[in-house]
Amino acid sequence: MLLMKDIINDQNKLIRTISKEVSLPLSKEDHDLLMEMHEFLVASQDEELSEKYNLRPAVGIAAIQLGIPKRMCAIHVLDYDENGEPTKSTDYALVNPKIVSYTQKQSYLKTGEACLSVDEDVKGYVPRHAKVTIEGYDALTDQNVSIVARGFLAICLQHELDHFDGVLYYDHINKDYPLVPIENAMVIE
Ligand SMILES: [Zn+2]
Repeated sequence: MLLMKDIINDQNKLIRTISKEVSLPLSKEDHDLLMEMHEFLVASQDEELSEKYNLRPAVGIAAIQLGIPKRMCAIHVLDYDENGEPTKSTDYALVNPKIVSYTQKQSYLKTGEACLSVDEDVKGYVPRHAKVTIEGYDALTDQNVSIVARGFLAICLQHELDHFDGVLYYDHINKDYPLVPIENAMVIE
């Protein structure tokens, strides 16, 4: 099982590596790694397991965060009802995902973003495309997928895809005005 000690942070230059395309069909090694990454996310959002293994809750992880420069990432996003009970889970284990279209309209998270590889949260709004269409191979369902994502999911996917190019969320924050609302952008609560 992956643990926090397996994750590199932004002090490690490897995090800025441009990751390489992964050859398909997926090797057993790549498949197992991707499943472990997804399993990590699920455990990190499980109250008992996250406490037991001291995991920081995360909705996404890219292979480079384990020091492996391959264009693979996992996603585990839960929706909650008003009582805080999870109602729906969106899960992907993506290989070579690419943004094939996006809206000019932007969005950002009201609370700012966070990252397993950034130990201390950097405050500031991160502009993202409000809606993206992403194509790639999903190892969880063993098929090519075309994902039309909006809102929080769209932000998560763009954050993970950025990791493939060595980009961190705080690179996008306006250095002079980190907390000035971004004009015409949708605010995601
Ligand atoms: Zn990240």
